[in-house]
Amino acid sequence: MSDCIFCKIVAGQLPCSKVYEDDELLAFHDIHPFARVHVLIIPKRHIETLADCLPEHEKLLGSMLLLAPRLAVEHGLDTGFKTLINTGRDGGQEVFHLHVHVFGGGNPVDRN
Ligand code: 5GP
Ligand code: ZN
Repeated sequence: MSDCIFCKIVAGQLPCSKVYEDDELLAFHDIHPFARVHVLIIPKRHIETLADCLPEHEKLLGSMLLLAPRLAVEHGLDTGFKTLINTGRDGGQEVFHLHVHVFGGGNPVDRN
């Protein structure tokens, strides 16, 4: 998807503050964090929303969720964290490339 911000990040055409990468997934700090720790986990391939996922995406979705607690602990959220998947315009989704928010730890730090 040529006009997708997250696809551009995956392609290296836009910078990100990367915290994790494997063959299928990328994770990076949210540019406008709403908590001290706020990372986004995305699939490298373009899937617009959770509602577009099919049975063939089951393993990918599992990998995204299993990565969440690992990244949370790595960023000091040992005692708990929140996850969020906004889906669709009325679900508050702004970037139409599937992503899981992982956040916690109190007030945000501006990463601009
Ligand atoms: P949504 O509302 O779609 O669930 O969340 C999109 C998130 O992506 C927002 O929290 C927003 O701050 C973040 N975001 C948007 N553009 C960029 C970007 O270019 N880089 C990074 N790191 N995060 C972004
Ligand atoms: Zn995309």
